[in-house]
Amino acid sequence: MRINVHAGHNADGRIACGAIGFIRESTEARRVKDAVVAQLRQLGHTVYDCTVDSASGVSANLSQIVSKCNAHDVDLDVSIHFNSGAGDSAGNSRTTGTEVYVYNAASKAKGYAERVCAAIAGLGYRSRGVKYSTGLYVLRNTKSPAMLVECCFVDDKDDVQLYDCQEMAEAIVYGITGQRMQASEEPANQETVAPGVETVVGNEKQLYRVQVGSYAVKGNADAMLAKLKAVGFDAIIINA
Ligand SMILES: [Zn+2]
Repeated sequence: MRINVHAGHNADGRIACGAIGFIRESTEARRVKDAVVAQLRQLGHTVYDCTVDSASGVSANLSQIVSKCNAHDVDLDVSIHFNSGAGDSAGNSRTTGTEVYVYNAASKAKGYAERVCAAIAGLGYRSRGVKYSTGLYVLRNTKSPAMLVECCFVDDKDDVQLYDCQEMAEAIVYGITGQRMQASEEPANQETVAPGVETVVGNEKQLYRVQVGSYAVKGNADAMLAKLKAVGFDAIIINA
């Protein structure tokens, strides 16, 4: 695929930067954007980074992003943002969650948006679903199908505790391409436990559990579960 990706707003520390809560939108959107760009390229896609860091204000930032986007003929424009307004500073054990915007129901980006939203929700965030907005400048003015991802809320303690930049990027990439990063390409994210036998003591019967692997990304665990079931094993996923 050919894909434009940008992080929303100017960089932090400048005018027109993004929302600030426990984490800073402009900074985290750039970290996720960098990881998405790197992963998409590793998977063989053509990617253009259309981020603008230091425009003179909000509208200049938006129009410069759109000119960068429209300079390329792409299958999809991806705008990465973080949300705010949850105001959950204490943490209530529930995330406020993720949502993805497209221009309207006829947008060719709608299917991508649904899959990205589902993939991020698969990490444990509440899904706020795909939403339509004809008022968002980037969605209104880009010539290719476009979606705007609000990864999660910067001002919800539960969202921020769950948030991991690499996992967020992997979910976005999976939603766009249907491709997951291979285990060998993400050594930092996967702790594979050597197959073996675990003894549970203290029970009247000893139990021997055979473990195949443990994964930081739920999607990878789901994929292994499907593989095991496909070859006839009655397997389950345990959160540990
Ligand atoms: Zn934003």
